[in-house]
Amino acid sequence: MTESKVSSESSAVHVDRLSFRYPGGPAVLSDISFTIAPSEIIGLVGPSGAGKSTLLQHLNGLLPSKLPESVGQVENLPHVCIDNLPVSRQTIAEVRRRVGFLFQDPDDQLFCPTVFEDVAFGPLNLGLSDIEARQRVRDSLASVGLAGYEPRSTLRLSLGERKRVCLAGVFACQPSVLALDEPFSSLDPRACRTLIGILKKFSGSQIIATHDLDVVVDLCHRVLLLDAGQLRAAGPTADILGNAALMERHGLEVPWRLR
Ligand code: ADP
Repeated sequence: MTESKVSSESSAVHVDRLSFRYPGGPAVLSDISFTIAPSEIIGLVGPSGAGKSTLLQHLNGLLPSKLPESVGQVENLPHVCIDNLPVSRQTIAEVRRRVGFLFQDPDDQLFCPTVFEDVAFGPLNLGLSDIEARQRVRDSLASVGLAGYEPRSTLRLSLGERKRVCLAGVFACQPSVLALDEPFSSLDPRACRTLIGILKKFSGSQIIATHDLDVVVDLCHRVLLLDAGQLRAAGPTADILGNAALMERHGLEVPWRLR
């Protein structure tokens, strides 16, 4: 299925006919097209193995072996655009600055001994001065409810805290798009509610891959349903997640809040 109704002109994310297979493997994404408007929050749902993580990784070029060399090559090829900037080897640094990516497992994201060093890494890498980076760290830790955590060891935090430190690191780079892979998995209800509150305050666009469909009802304006690498349905959250036949066909259940 192709979702072609939304104009790409004002889109924060525009994915056009994207297909992908890992080397030597079967097709994992087949002819995927969709757009995300500025400030829109999208829930990316589907059974395990549907291709959700693989799709998210294309939004900031985490699968670089498949990137076109230059913007010029992109025109008639399937492609991904962020803020109208086609993702290619030429644009990858700028694309990564604009798209904040949250890995499912904080251990894939955190790699510095202290919270300060981890959150400061992105801003310093962007060329900000020490003073500016310090301010970004302070602001982004405060925005995720972890003010004063700078000297803490990243190894001695709860899972919810580690996820929030990852998010602070993402926010510190001031992205315009968030691509979040299972941000709520393994969080207790309070940590989950805290994270939902943080995401609701973010002013840019978001695409959130998750199995937590009640959270999707709470948070997301629209849903993309992926199964076996194909976009099977797209539309307003209640229309998609409230469609019992559609949900059952793709191994999902109507969330409690829509029953
Ligand atoms: P989801 O996030 O919906 O669970 P994934 O994108 O993780 O789906 O996986 C989609 C398919 O791609 C699965 O069949 C998975 O086994 C395969 N896959 C994921 N990552 C790799 C990889 N690095 N190499 C080869 N196959 C992979």
